[in-house]
Amino acid sequence: MKACVLESVGNLVYKEIPAPTPAKGEVLLRIKACGICSSDYARVLKTGTYHFPTIPGHEFAGKIEMIGDGVDPVLIGKSAVIFPLLPCEKCTSCQRKQWAQCKNYNYFGSRCDGAFAEYLSVPVWNVLVYDDVIPYCVAALTEPAAVAWHAVRMAQVTRKDIVCISGSGTIAILCGLWAINQGAKKVYLTCRSKKKKIYIEQFNELQAIVIDDSFHDTLLSKTNGEGADVVIECVGSALSLETAIRSLRSEGRIILLGNPEGDITLEKNIYWKILRGEYSIQGVWNSIYKAERCDWNDVLVHMKSMYPILEKLITHKFELAECQNAFQTMTDSSIFSVKGMFINE
Ligand SMILES: [Zn+2]
Ligand SMILES: [Zn+2]
Repeated sequence: MKACVLESVGNLVYKEIPAPTPAKGEVLLRIKACGICSSDYARVLKTGTYHFPTIPGHEFAGKIEMIGDGVDPVLIGKSAVIFPLLPCEKCTSCQRKQWAQCKNYNYFGSRCDGAFAEYLSVPVWNVLVYDDVIPYCVAALTEPAAVAWHAVRMAQVTRKDIVCISGSGTIAILCGLWAINQGAKKVYLTCRSKKKKIYIEQFNELQAIVIDDSFHDTLLSKTNGEGADVVIECVGSALSLETAIRSLRSEGRIILLGNPEGDITLEKNIYWKILRGEYSIQGVWNSIYKAERCDWNDVLVHMKSMYPILEKLITHKFELAECQNAFQTMTDSSIFSVKGMFINE
């Protein structure tokens, strides 16, 4: 099969490698679509994976073509998305089904081979089959959509809430859509350009405010001079965190979702605001899968009706053979992009 193999930092090579065969309890997935995550930019271009060579790619959907021993044959031919985390099933977190907290997990696309390839063999536990009406490229958004869904659930958004989302990337827009889905009164995303604002405002009732000198005045004017009830920070920079804190009303809630790009420091007066405003700060990580609830199932249910709007997130589609160009394009700040995706027809 063909795959994009990360052989060293910055060296993603499209090449022929042996296709996997499904072991006992596994299915062989023909990968139809795999998203390029912003964490893949760093993985491929800056930090590398846990070892080389590795096939990146953890946001994917495909068709089950073959099964290993002990797997129900009814799965053959079904469309499926894959939870990319492989828990140890032994640690105390796993015993509580808190898979994302597992102390010794494996992960498709970073710790072991992922889905920038034509095929991947995966344990049947990680498989969720879904309704064929959802196109593969949208189904491949289930992972980031589940992360965003988890964040919005943790924020406990209600009909009374004005939600501000610091950021305007894929996860930020998904958080905005889920906040509206949960009944938020208004949802504002922050963005850096008029072009991005126009792009964001084509998604249902999402509104965007360009970050400029008058940003905080604009936000206050839209929130009765109070600030937002809930802020979800999706960038992971000091500036974004500061924007988030300054955007919040007294006794508001901040959800921290963005992966930190480096050390994050706060000015003293911003820190004071957390204390004086009695803010609640909640970190969120990954998503809940097959436990007391399943963010992945919730997302797939909503996707069935929302796939046309979700498809607008995908600004770029690439073939695996174009992997070098794909990473160049997606990280070129002069090119407007949101979500890039590898497609195997
Ligand atoms: Zn991701
Ligand atoms: Zn574990």
